[in-house]
Parts: sequence; C-alpha cells; structure tokens
Amino acid sequence: MPTIRQKIIDLLEEDAHDARDLSQTLRVPEKEIYTHLAHVAKSMNAKKKKLEILPFSCFSCGFEFTDRRRFTRPGRCPKCRDTRVEYPLYRIR
Ligand SMILES: [Zn+2]
Repeated sequence: MPTIRQKIIDLLEEDAHDARDLSQTLRVPEKEIYTHLAHVAKSMNAKKKKLEILPFSCFSCGFEFTDRRRFTRPGRCPKCRDTRVEYPLYRIR
C-alpha cells in the first residue's frame, strides 16, 4: 500500500492540485494535507525535484501571491484584508 505521502507525490507529479482537492481524493483532513506537503517538499531535494506553489490571487482585489513559501492558504489578503483568497495549487516538477 502506498503511503499518503507517496499518493500526494504521484498526484502532484501528474497534475496541479489544491489542498481541498487532495483532501477529498485521499480522504484526509485538509489540515493534514498541509503537514504532508511540508514533508513532501523536504523529500524532493533527494529526487532533484521541487514542490512548487503556483501563483494564486485574492478574489476581492486580485492581489497575486507569487512568492508564497508556506503551504497553508493565507488567512487574508495583505493588500485589502479580505479573507476570500483562492486555494493555491501545488505541483511537482
Ligand atoms: Zn485583496
């Protein structure tokens, strides 16, 4: 049986997914997905690959999060303070 982390790696190598997506597909709480992502990111160096966070934006003002390092979804937009922010997509390449 592949572990959850291995399944996450397989899914993200295939296509970009957000945490909500991964949570539903793997039946794991969204909160746990973020923990797994942090571990997956660390294990990527050995494989000479990288877990990327694709740019995502604020629904309200369109502010783009282009340099996000943390995997969790930001609580609010730094520009307009709105809490409606897109789910970031992750992928491995
Ligand atoms: Zn905003």
